[in-house]
Amino acid sequence: RAVTPEKAQAPPRAEIAVKISNRERVIFPESGNSKGDLADYYAAVAPLMLPFVTNRPISLVRCPQGRAKKCFFQKHDSGTFGEHVHHVPIREKDGGAEDYLYLNDAEGLLSCVQMGTIEFHGWAARVDDVERPDRMIFDLDPDEGLDFKECIRAAGDIRARLADLGLVTFAMLSGGKGVHVVVPLKRGHDWDTHKDFARRFAEAMSLAEPDRYVATMSKARRKGRIFIDWLRNQRGATAVLPYSARSRDRAPVAVPVSWDELDGMKTAHPFSIGDAAELIRRSERLHGWGFAEQRLPEI
Ligand code: ATP
Ligand code: MN
Ligand code: MN
Repeated sequence: RAVTPEKAQAPPRAEIAVKISNRERVIFPESGNSKGDLADYYAAVAPLMLPFVTNRPISLVRCPQGRAKKCFFQKHDSGTFGEHVHHVPIREKDGGAEDYLYLNDAEGLLSCVQMGTIEFHGWAARVDDVERPDRMIFDLDPDEGLDFKECIRAAGDIRARLADLGLVTFAMLSGGKGVHVVVPLKRGHDWDTHKDFARRFAEAMSLAEPDRYVATMSKARRKGRIFIDWLRNQRGATAVLPYSARSRDRAPVAVPVSWDELDGMKTAHPFSIGDAAELIRRSERLHGWGFAEQRLPEI
């Protein structure tokens, strides 16, 4: 496997006290990336990624035999992740409680990778108060075949409409097909308020421009349109976290971008786990991405 220049320039892996077994195991058959490559990626981007991961309940996409084999979405712990992956009990709908996972350091990230994790997804709330969300996400899911430019335009529309309401927003390429518009929020309101705002906002967009947007999951209604997926904003839902790798063809990653950069993007997956050095370089221009002190307005 060729070593790309980006890879050669990657900073040396910090001292992270987690042993990665089977480093040579191929996890991404199309690009040949191994478990070791994935571990090195997460070790390198941990300083960029951890601010968005720390102290949030997380779900993992694990593919222990590689992405071409069986993968599963894991919310709860079977007690096998070790000392760096912590537990928080969260009340379930049925009144019981389940232990969710969270982490707050690079060792935690790497412990998950050791267990076959490719993707990290997070709640929109932190473990010290899981009933008070701290960010809203509009997950733009374009219909198959729709030009990525349409997705960029949609993200810009959402940005503008939220700016009208006094809200600062940020864009992230999902590493898959779409863009996530991220709205950081001060904690205070509850999940019902959160979900209700997100639903009404998405419905207003689709009512204003029914040829471009839908606010319901129905695949049939999505034809040629973009689904503004507001369902990421309910209690218990997760969204892929910034800098997470994706269990998709050629090991792409979810990447924060500036609004200016977004305009020039050709796809939602321009970066992959081989690009750690590049991601670190460009993060300097993204200072402050994903953070803003603002409250949900009354609408
Ligand atoms: P894309 O841009 O390709 O849509 P995405 O990450 O936005 O990538 P979606 O299918 O839109 O993918 O999913 C949105 C979010 O829903 C995911 O990021 C994830 O957190 C959550 N999700 C996906 N699959 C599951 C699952 N099986 N169980 C629970 N939550 C899931
Ligand atoms: Mn999506
Ligand atoms: Mn979605």
